[in-house]
Amino acid sequence: MPEKVPHAQLIVSAQGGMAWATVQAYVKRLLCLEGGCGHCPSCKQTANLTHPDVHLVFPVTASAGDGTSESSLAEFRNFLKFNKFPLVRTWIDALDASQKVVQISVKEAKRMGDLLSLKSHSGGYKVLLIWLPERLHDSAANKLLKTLEEPEPKTAIFLISHDEESVLPTIRSRCQAVYLPPWGAEHVRQWLIQERQIDPNQAKLLSALSGGEPGVALDYLENRERLVPLAENFAEWMRLAFKKDLPGLQNWVDTIGAWSREQQRDFLHFSGSLLSQLERLRHHALKHGTLEWFPDVPFNASGFSKLMSADKVLLMHQTMDDAYVDIGRNVNARLVFFDAGLRLMKAF
Ligand SMILES: [Zn+2]
Repeated sequence: MPEKVPHAQLIVSAQGGMAWATVQAYVKRLLCLEGGCGHCPSCKQTANLTHPDVHLVFPVTASAGDGTSESSLAEFRNFLKFNKFPLVRTWIDALDASQKVVQISVKEAKRMGDLLSLKSHSGGYKVLLIWLPERLHDSAANKLLKTLEEPEPKTAIFLISHDEESVLPTIRSRCQAVYLPPWGAEHVRQWLIQERQIDPNQAKLLSALSGGEPGVALDYLENRERLVPLAENFAEWMRLAFKKDLPGLQNWVDTIGAWSREQQRDFLHFSGSLLSQLERLRHHALKHGTLEWFPDVPFNASGFSKLMSADKVLLMHQTMDDAYVDIGRNVNARLVFFDAGLRLMKAF
């Protein structure tokens, strides 16, 4: 166990990354009398998130039970059992809430206070795990802020974020931040083969596509159908930009503008990773690109990559990053994608 346990830690990884696995390993060591042995009752309870001193707070919809994570606890435990490297979207899908607000609610504020005033069951640490502090409702955030300012003894709070920029600065500044890099493609490849019994060739491709984040590799594997429209629209967007086809861009913007904001951000994130791959393809640093996962999508990746240059790629990445931020800020999506399309045209 670490010498001194920080009162509050902000654990940051990409979606599908190592944050949950890391926090769970840490909590196991914190609560186990044998330093995280892995087989005592405490370790087993930590592993399946049923330890009485480990409390979970995560975003839900207002209509689920009483609107706090308490009502969806069983569902969430089950979700994490099958998604050890969870994506936000997968949880939203599990809640069947793609068109709803999914957040850590006002009602959660009181619950958090109650949880922390409970006596520790085992006489050791009390742990509060908050997944996605970027989705805290303002009132819940204020409540949490008070808790962070007046730390109770033997209480460890972990905030697991995949979008640190969107966490309130007042909360961020009161936490010790830990940044987790990707696990790495080679780890992901081995894990897919050993834990998921995936064909070695497929595992190689998926790990190359994952950016080294295991949850992303699993998402590719399990949701190929969902990703088809993203791949198709990336190909279409690039085609329109290259041909400087303005009327085509107008039509395309109408299609993509009708998607939900989650889908739009998902698309931009996906497009950014495809772009990085095309750049690596240009440098012969990549053998398998994501688009190989979608043989039905007509796109000549190696031909396209020859049209690129370092400057162009930089400009295109900047364009997609800016669009991602604007979509998050509720700027009109059609305008954002049209403007981004014009900037891509200039890049060619
Ligand atoms: Zn143990």
